[in-house]
Amino acid sequence: MTVTHPPRPLSYVKMRRLMSFFSALLKEKKAGFTDFIHKMVSNQQICQHLDTQRILQPQSSSSVRREEERVSPNSVNPVGPHVKPSDFDYLKVIGKGSFGKVLLARHRKRGSYYAVKVLQKQIIVNRKEQKHVMVERSVLLKGLQHPFLVGLHFSFQTPNTLYFVLDYVNGGELFYHLQREVSFPEPRAAFYAAEMALALGYLHSLNIVYRDLKPENILLNSEGHVMLTDFGLCKEGVALGGTMETFCGTPEYLAPEVLQGHSYSPGVDWWGLGTVLFEMLFGLPPFYSRNKAEMFEKILHAPLMLRSGVSQDAGSLLAGLLERDCSKRLGSNRDVAELQEHSFFASLNWDDLLAKKVTPPFIPQVTSPYDVRYIDPEFTLLPVPASLDTNGRCQRVGLSQAFPGFSYMSPV
Ligand code: ATP
Ligand code: MG
Repeated sequence: MTVTHPPRPLSYVKMRRLMSFFSALLKEKKAGFTDFIHKMVSNQQICQHLDTQRILQPQSSSSVRREEERVSPNSVNPVGPHVKPSDFDYLKVIGKGSFGKVLLARHRKRGSYYAVKVLQKQIIVNRKEQKHVMVERSVLLKGLQHPFLVGLHFSFQTPNTLYFVLDYVNGGELFYHLQREVSFPEPRAAFYAAEMALALGYLHSLNIVYRDLKPENILLNSEGHVMLTDFGLCKEGVALGGTMETFCGTPEYLAPEVLQGHSYSPGVDWWGLGTVLFEMLFGLPPFYSRNKAEMFEKILHAPLMLRSGVSQDAGSLLAGLLERDCSKRLGSNRDVAELQEHSFFASLNWDDLLAKKVTPPFIPQVTSPYDVRYIDPEFTLLPVPASLDTNGRCQRVGLSQAFPGFSYMSPV
């Protein structure tokens, strides 16, 4: 079936970011959030849908605490000297996450640039998300060595704060570029989808499900290659055929089985890839609606609408990835190998792609590691906190012990 999408709202990506910002803000106040949800879900019929009710349940949280310029005993590093906040100069804010900021930083001695993800322990503990953070650390620690995955150099903690020191990726979020161009031609979309597929296939081969494939987590490096970041929602120990039950993720990109609370498998990542590919080709996610509850409903039940103008191969790949029955979804048997055989990727040499021998369709024009032109000024114009670790008096009892063994220094 073919239909024409309504014109893409110019501010869609901005709007989505605002939505996440407000929902994060509202998570800080349970009552406020509940109010917000009540207002948002205006459609009575959809509200009665059990799935929708469960999905829209609020989480609790409270205020951010400030930090102490002292490395906690837990950050004693078994493989090297202490790494501490003051080892870095913090140059720019480059992103915001649910638990804190991501900053561009330069290591004072090494002179090298990193993205430092700073997480406030109190927020994590209040939301009972310690497990996700420790999973992110443990996934990063698995020594992930893949050309399309962001690598971890250090992790350390102070009494109130956790730090991940990551490769700094400065070609911008993939969807920063998509927003400017509305949609990508098929060859460009195929290139990005293929690099993502290889990264996901690699994670699956380590029994890790990424689970959080969404625009904000897909970055381009300075050469124009995809880099997946943010392993906070990964699930370890899930083999093909294995399943998980925890509900996680971002509505637009969630697979139906996740929404329904069913057990799910690595196939959720192939659904995620389908939604991202759809958005690259059409400018909006497949079941998008401004009304979140309606969007959940569409993900579960609406037919997949493909605009005219895409090739048969693209349509067939999208239909394969966005198959609601996960046992029939493309990738459900032989994982990434099934995608690699699909005609949409026929002209691609996968070995060359993995070896980064395929020239990216777009090369970011960054002149130095310090160049932040592709990072949203919404972040880069934010003031860099004078100190990330001041005022230790606010430290809450128990926070120091909440993340045992977090610290790490890359052996490389
Ligand atoms: P979590 O799921 O742990 O809550 P998050 O969404 O809060 O994660 P991230 O996605 O890791 O946090 O980071 C937030 C933003 O910071 C990203 O969307 C991206 O724009 C930017 N960012 C993250 N990592 C890097 C990096 N290594 N290089 C450049 N920018 C990054
Ligand atoms: Mg993220």
